[in-house]
Amino acid sequence: MKFCIQSRLDPQSNELMGLARSYLEEFGLLFDEENPEIVISIGGDGTLLHAFHRFAHKLDKIAFVGIHTGHLGFYADWKPSELEKLVLSIAKKEYNVVEYPLLEVQVQRNNKESSTYLALNEATIKSPDVTLVMDVELNGNHFERFRGDGLCVSTPTGSTAYNKALGGAIIHPSLQAFQITEMASINNRVFRTVGSSLVLPAHHNCMLKPVNEQQFNMTIDHISVIETDVKAIIFNVANEKVRFARFRPFPFWERVHESFISDK
Ligand code: NAP
Repeated sequence: MKFCIQSRLDPQSNELMGLARSYLEEFGLLFDEENPEIVISIGGDGTLLHAFHRFAHKLDKIAFVGIHTGHLGFYADWKPSELEKLVLSIAKKEYNVVEYPLLEVQVQRNNKESSTYLALNEATIKSPDVTLVMDVELNGNHFERFRGDGLCVSTPTGSTAYNKALGGAIIHPSLQAFQITEMASINNRVFRTVGSSLVLPAHHNCMLKPVNEQQFNMTIDHISVIETDVKAIIFNVANEKVRFARFRPFPFWERVHESFISDK
C-alpha cells in the first residue's frame, strides 16, 4: 500500500511525520507523494484542508486520516500518543472508508471561462469594503436580494467551522446537503433577507448573481481569490465525495460534544 503524509510543519508535527514514515516503511508500505492510497494529515483540521486540496484531483482513490497535534479536530481525531496503534491498523488494513459530501462551486464569468472548485468546509463570498449585493436564486427562482457582509455556503463537515461561528446549524455529515448562512445582512423596512440559515438537499442548487459590477472576495476553505466580472456563482452538492479512513467508532455527536461542550 502507498501512503503520503501532510504535516502542519511545526516541530511536533514534523517529528511525528518522521516517526510515522519510518514505522510504515518498516511494515513494507511505500511512501508515494503522487499516488497515495492513504494520506495521513498531522496538525489540525486546517492541515487536513491543505491535504484535501493537494489531492482534490484523485479523491476517489484516497482515504484521509488526521492526527491532531493541537486540540481535537473534526478531521484530525487521533492523538499523537496513538501513533503506533494507528500505524499498525493502517499496515493491517484494519479500517473502513466513510464518504462525506462536498460542495461544488461554479463561477461563471462574463468575458472569461468559468471555473469549478470543490470545497471540503465551505465557500464564502465577501465584499471587503462595500456592502455585498447579490440576488439569490434557489432552483432557478428568485428568493431574495441579499445585502450585507457576505454569505457562507458550507458542507455538512464544514458546518462546525466558519458556519457555526456565524450561527448556522450543525449538520450530520451523512446528510447529502449544503447550507447557506448569512454574514451581517442588512434588514430594515426597505431591505429584507430571510435571516435564517437555509439547508438545501442534493438535488437543489443555489445561484448568486452580483447586482452591481463589483469586485468581491471568494474563499474556498483556506484559499482566497478576488473575483471580478462574475455573471453567477452556482452551488451544488458535488458528485465527488471525500473519503475518510475510520479505524474505530467515534460518533459525530460525541465529537461535537467533546469539541464544543466538554471533553469528559
Ligand atoms: P485555520 O486556522 O486553519 O482554521 C481556523 C479554525 O477553524 C481552526 O481552529 C481550525 O481547526 C478550525 N476548523 C477548520 N475546519 C474545521 C471543521 N470542519 N470543524 C471545526 N473546526 C474547523 O484557518 P485557515 O487556514 O484560514 O482555514 C480556513 C478555515 O478556517 C475555513 O475553512 C473556515 O471554516 C475557518 N474559518 C473560521 C472562521 C471563524 O470561525 N470565524 C473565520 C474564517 C475561517 P484546527 O485548529 O484544528 O486547524
